[in-house]
Amino acid sequence: MKTDRREIATTVSNDPSSYKLCAVCGSIVDKSVTNCPDCYAYRFDSDPSHVADAALDLAVKPQRAVSHFDLMPESSDDSDSDTRD
Ligand SMILES: [Zn+2]
Repeated sequence: MKTDRREIATTVSNDPSSYKLCAVCGSIVDKSVTNCPDCYAYRFDSDPSHVADAALDLAVKPQRAVSHFDLMPESSDDSDSDTRD
């Protein structure tokens, strides 16, 4: 995955009121969505402080699930240094 999670987290934490959290899977989604793109839930936590906290968690924790960012078409990237052992 090419998108920098810390970059996304910074964007979200700078403007948490434009986002909300999925109450089921914890994904950060745009405030305008009605269903979570990851799990299709329709319940959200839109408290900006919760969103900001989740964004910071996102930046430091390993990814646990496939997000819609992973499913977006992007140019092929076979140089993922994170998977190298
Ligand atoms: Zn969800």
